[in-house]
Amino acid sequence: MKVKLAKSAGFCWGVRRTMNIAMDAADNADGAVHTFGPLIHNPQVVDLLASKGMTVVKEFDELQAGSTLIIRAHGIPPETRQELKSRGVKLRDGTCPLVAKVHAHIKKYLGLGYSLVILGHRDHPEVIGHLGYARDRGVVISSAEEVDTLPPMAKVCLVSQTTANEIKFHEVAERLKAKYDDCVVVNTICDDTHTRQEEVLQVAETVDAMVVVGGKGSSNTQRLVELSKSKGIPAFHVETADELDLGQLTEYETVGVTAGASTPNWIIQQVVERLEQAQTRRPTGWKLAQRLLGFLTQTNIYVALGAMALTVANMQLLDMPFTPLYLVIAGLYVYAVHTLNRLAESKAGKLNDPMRTEFYQRHRGVLRGSALACALGTMALSYHLGWGPLALTTLMVVMGGLYQTDLVGGPRSNALKYRRLKDIPTSKTLFVPLAWAVITLVLPALSSEVALPWWQIGALFCMTFLMVFLRAALLDIRDIQGDRLVGRETIPIVLGTQRTWQLLVATTAILSLFFVVAPSVGWLRPVQASYLIGVAYLGVSLYLITRQRIVRRFLSESLVDGAFLVFGAIALVTMLVGA
Ligand code: SF4
Repeated sequence: MKVKLAKSAGFCWGVRRTMNIAMDAADNADGAVHTFGPLIHNPQVVDLLASKGMTVVKEFDELQAGSTLIIRAHGIPPETRQELKSRGVKLRDGTCPLVAKVHAHIKKYLGLGYSLVILGHRDHPEVIGHLGYARDRGVVISSAEEVDTLPPMAKVCLVSQTTANEIKFHEVAERLKAKYDDCVVVNTICDDTHTRQEEVLQVAETVDAMVVVGGKGSSNTQRLVELSKSKGIPAFHVETADELDLGQLTEYETVGVTAGASTPNWIIQQVVERLEQAQTRRPTGWKLAQRLLGFLTQTNIYVALGAMALTVANMQLLDMPFTPLYLVIAGLYVYAVHTLNRLAESKAGKLNDPMRTEFYQRHRGVLRGSALACALGTMALSYHLGWGPLALTTLMVVMGGLYQTDLVGGPRSNALKYRRLKDIPTSKTLFVPLAWAVITLVLPALSSEVALPWWQIGALFCMTFLMVFLRAALLDIRDIQGDRLVGRETIPIVLGTQRTWQLLVATTAILSLFFVVAPSVGWLRPVQASYLIGVAYLGVSLYLITRQRIVRRFLSESLVDGAFLVFGAIALVTMLVGA
């Protein structure tokens, strides 16, 4: 089965914004924090938010004075807002600015003497909010046919729920214009919805069936189902991968996947992966290669190979003789530390990569045993290099192993925020490159029998750090939703995706400049300018991942880790030709 994922699937910016406001309130607000209805339709996320003290209320009466209410992206009616304020409830306004814009249109036309016709679902929270702004001059309809039932009105203004069906909106507008002489039409369907609906129509034309992922009560998800069906193909609406009817879906050659505006990335990923795994025919060579790559990535063997390759590149850049021991140490170390941290990472792992977490839970014993054996192997091999290298690798293993360990112990309190190394803001994005630079460059350089110039080691240390930083930050951009929910402060969360992207572009530019300038001024040999190929590869990976050209987790990870293999290959070729 071939799976086509719509690029627009997943959180819209309005929902992302509300989530950020909610997470900020959960971390910093005094007293209880509530949402009226779930922020997003996912039980895992609701449980996670509950563990942070954020609970869902079904009635506004449940809110106590002094508690905080997160207003969801749908907004609330003005009278409810007033009432809550007068009762002493603190409001954190997550109303999407595009929903607020509809409120502004309603107020404007109400002031000009118009009656408001709102296209949408009567019971939807957003429509309830719009109706509140329209006061006693608003009426809700859900189809063009209902226009005929509307009473005579002197002046009519049409607005809609931001996630309404475009086609239906235009039908309603035509009928209203035909019925009322003074009829103003304001298209309030948001751009995100527009793009999502356009894309689902395009994808639906090229597939045999559609899977739409999103809450059963989510209006915009239901629209996507309707639109898919309008193209004459079956559409399956699921909330999670567990609801997929694989028996039926495997009958189709090509299946499209899209998702509603409040569907987290990891659920979409799970659906795509479950579909791709449900093969009916014998897997092709490409599929088998993908499975092998998936296995190597999932088990951290691939990233360990990357560390070995980077060590080869660093040895070549330092003009050191090829010494296999250094690469074995680097590979064992990276495998051990990455695996131990994956095993310790429960909450973020479950959200960002549930299938990998499942794999780690299933094979916990083997993975832990092999990781500990590799950690011991790292230290034993370093002992052959001397006491200094042994001390360095032991320190690195201990730091890597303790990254997620509570170093304080005892009950948790808000006064002590940083209890683990991983609690330090941006530590996840910065510690990994630091560790890699030490193990792939500093260790071989310090153990070398030939004295190497400190400035050369320093310059290459910075370049290695930047290369691995690119990898770490790119993967952190991919994991931003899950990391944000568990309160992890990675660089993309602290700086925002846009600024992180700019930082990564700047990092790629610095790396390129180094491999152009260093050979031309004699810091590196001319042939070593060939490492620019590896930097170009990193730049292309950056583009493909941030532009969502590659969405599958293991593919994005193997693509970016592949950069180190490219560096290693360049080093080997250079060594073999004796340049
Ligand atoms: S669907 Fe559109 S209007 Fe609704 S929250 Fe998202 S961006 Fe805002």
